[in-house]
Amino acid sequence: MCAAQTLTAPGVATKYAIEARNLNVYYGNFHAVRDVSMDIYARRITAMIGPSGCGKSTVLRCFNRMNDLVPGARVEGEVNLHGQNIYAPDVDPVEVRRRIGMVFQKPNPFPKSIYENIAWGARINGFKGNMDDLVEESLRGAALWDEVKDKLKQNAYSLSGGQQQRLCIARAIAVRPEIILMDEPCSALDPIATLRIEELMRELVENYTIIIVTHNMQQASRVADYTAFFMVDDSRTGYLVEYGESEQIFTRPKDKRTEDYITGRFG
Ligand code: ADP
Repeated sequence: MCAAQTLTAPGVATKYAIEARNLNVYYGNFHAVRDVSMDIYARRITAMIGPSGCGKSTVLRCFNRMNDLVPGARVEGEVNLHGQNIYAPDVDPVEVRRRIGMVFQKPNPFPKSIYENIAWGARINGFKGNMDDLVEESLRGAALWDEVKDKLKQNAYSLSGGQQQRLCIARAIAVRPEIILMDEPCSALDPIATLRIEELMRELVENYTIIIVTHNMQQASRVADYTAFFMVDDSRTGYLVEYGESEQIFTRPKDKRTEDYITGRFG
């Protein structure tokens, strides 16, 4: 049996964290996304926006092979991480998902203590260092430490929704990924908890590449360095219309369709 290929070690400073080429995604016979090619800048926040059903989450899930877990989903094309296609047959998807973590729409902590939420994933990933230090470092990294340091043994469900989402971010960074994918991470949160997560994203981007799907254009323009706008064609297949610096997309869109969307004329 051929051993799973180890992806190239991180540490080499590259301009792009991910280079996606000609992504096409199908759910059974339905062509959900066509011909998406985009380079994701390293240590920047990239937002994916567009009307509901245009394939934002589908494309996001391509970036860490999460669609492998969706029944009936099929991905064509390449997603290159440091020049290496994560869809190559000998690449281990579990290793891909360790390197490219994900935070979901609804906070989904494990029904365990705050401490164990961090420690469990790290242990499974073979972490052998000082667990107390890792838990503290991860909670500090997710701007949650001061609020939970005296109740680490309490169940994670005792936290507020916003705190639970920051715990999920702490859990994601505990395995030291390079990239964090966030699928509508604030849609279940109130405005104050939302701003807290947005501030946290700006802190995290010092060390991580972040890609966020959001239906909220204000959020994209507040937090994202780059924005990609998607639409659907007459067959309901999603495609990338325009991608560039957020400042340009939101103030000087090049494409009429982007302009119509951001000015609220459709969608
Ligand atoms: P968005 O995130 O932009 O709202 P999605 O990526 O969730 O869009 O969905 C894109 C299209 O693919 C939609 O038409 C949706 O109904 C379809 N789709 C998404 N997930 C599945 C699935 N698991 N099975 C079948 N169709 C799906």
